[in-house]
Amino acid sequence: MIEGMQHHLQIIPISAFKDNYIWLMHNGRQAVVVDPGDAVPVLENLQHLNLTLDSILITHHHHDHIGGVDTLLNAYPEAVVYAPKLEKYAFKHRPVGEPDLVQLTTFDLQFSVIDLPGHTLGHIAYYATQADGKNLLFCGDTLFGAGCGRLFEGSPAQMYQSLQKLAALPTETQVYCTHEYTLNNIHFALSLEPNNQALVERLEQTQKIRGMNKPSLRSSIALERATNPFLRCFSPEIQSGLQLKNVDNLKVFSTMRELKNHY
Ligand SMILES: [Zn+2]
Repeated sequence: MIEGMQHHLQIIPISAFKDNYIWLMHNGRQAVVVDPGDAVPVLENLQHLNLTLDSILITHHHHDHIGGVDTLLNAYPEAVVYAPKLEKYAFKHRPVGEPDLVQLTTFDLQFSVIDLPGHTLGHIAYYATQADGKNLLFCGDTLFGAGCGRLFEGSPAQMYQSLQKLAALPTETQVYCTHEYTLNNIHFALSLEPNNQALVERLEQTQKIRGMNKPSLRSSIALERATNPFLRCFSPEIQSGLQLKNVDNLKVFSTMRELKNHY
């Protein structure tokens, strides 16, 4: 290898279980994984790409996001695990929450930790700004392509506020979600907002991509703001469809979240 050769940061999805994505970030030598629910496909990728595991970022305590951590730490004992400070974990980790920073010097990246209560109470996201404006957001089970996570522990008000925080990030931010739910979410969104042209276009594009069995993700804050009903509680079309006029956006949000549970 040429000395001083720069490797571009690459971010690849690793499929796990039925519809999870474990995001793997690497610079050609070292890797970070986010929410490794299963160690087997992660180890395969690390070996195949000849990478060492540097760090693990955890967004929340659900098993499909942490199930692979122990095995990965056995294979790479030097790897540092970051996990929400408001949740309990049996594995060795550094507890983080807002406004902590996670410095990944190997990758020249600094992640801000964002508290996102709702799906779980301790849920966090990792957000890094980049010089080219294509900031990175690893948001676990809070924001999905055209959807959002279920409320297992938090209240609708908490989830609404958490999603508002993400919606306020710069529009070019690249959003790395952890489940392939996009197509189903788009169908639900279209039932609420059938005349949203951006949503109609997203359906066509996503059908094409999924037809080729490729991931519908990553997304962007701009795309989610244009198409994700849970970020569009203000939409007159959504409000009139739900017969919710002159109510606050939180009521619109909680009504949609409840409807989605039975969709
Ligand atoms: Zn979860």
